[in-house]
Amino acid sequence: MTPAAFAVLTLDAVRHNLSKVRSCAPEAKIMAVIKANGYGHGMLRIAEALQDVDAFAVARVDEGMRLRKAGFKQRIAVLEGFSCTEEFEELLTYQLEPVVHSFTQLEIIETITEVQGCNIWLKIDTGMNRLGFKPADFDLVYQRLNCCSLIKQPINLMTHFANADVANDAKTLQQIKLFNDTVDGFIGERSLANSAAILAWEQSLSDWVRPGVMLYGISPFPEVTGQQLGLRPVMELHSRLIAIKPVAAGDTVGYGGSWLCEKSTTLGVVAIGYGDGYPRYAKVGTPVLVNGQRVELIGRVSMDMITVDLGVVTEAKVGDSVTLWGETLPVEEIALWSDTIPYTLVCGVTQRVQLIDK
Ligand SMILES: *Cc1c(COP(=O)(O)O)cnc(C)c1O
Repeated sequence: MTPAAFAVLTLDAVRHNLSKVRSCAPEAKIMAVIKANGYGHGMLRIAEALQDVDAFAVARVDEGMRLRKAGFKQRIAVLEGFSCTEEFEELLTYQLEPVVHSFTQLEIIETITEVQGCNIWLKIDTGMNRLGFKPADFDLVYQRLNCCSLIKQPINLMTHFANADVANDAKTLQQIKLFNDTVDGFIGERSLANSAAILAWEQSLSDWVRPGVMLYGISPFPEVTGQQLGLRPVMELHSRLIAIKPVAAGDTVGYGGSWLCEKSTTLGVVAIGYGDGYPRYAKVGTPVLVNGQRVELIGRVSMDMITVDLGVVTEAKVGDSVTLWGETLPVEEIALWSDTIPYTLVCGVTQRVQLIDK
């Protein structure tokens, strides 16, 4: 018997979504972003499904080490880089490619002379105001890095967008221009685009693209689903009914008694809750599929369970299958009902949920 809460991962869908990246950016090399445990899908299985990309990207050194220890030989960029000498040495040992974004890092790099051939990604902050050197510091930093025997030439150049998910956004245009102006005349491969930019900002494609969320079949845009963009969702989150009972008008359901039954109905208890990563803030009315039929969430989400109004699904019985999101119930829709973005839902699936490959 499968555990109560489990997620089915369709790896063919990952490959389909990769082909969508290729059709949007046919000239570009692909750095597949598989940080945060492959956006909650299981980093190693996703890496396995994406064997023929040009590089992987993770956020942290330990994620890159895990890939190496599992035997992956591809290039691996580490998007947060490193923050001390020890971490940088680990990076070198595992042949990971750090994003270099700060003077602290530059100074550490300059102290190391006994190693060679380290590929780095020099990041310019063109307006996101998170990681990256200011454009005004770029020339100097580039020259200093060029003097380090450790660093492989030519240096790769990158930036990251703040608003690429916003159609016709002026700030994105500014960021593209500022990046291009800053690196103009310098050699080195360029990388700007995340999923939203791959899908909506053709002028940002350049030498490398960095798709993340779209590989998992999820839309980076609010109010649009991955399926509407020609993507296929990878994760389906499932559980089952563990109790069914009548509720009478006037009864309340769940913690705080916040849901008041107005008309007698049948209630279903489903074995999934925020302890599994189902969003605590999913509102009453959030759709849930019971035997493939849509019903509504009622009452508060608790740690291990949710309650649904079985209403019209009269033949439902204990043990029946429940789908929380997937092919026929877009995770984007659940995100809207929970005042969040789909990224947080898939990343938030917890250890307790068994991941099963399909
Ligand atoms: C996470 C991340 C990406 C991928 O973003 P998506 O929106 O998931 O495509 C790309 N680049 C950087 C620097 C990131 O941190």
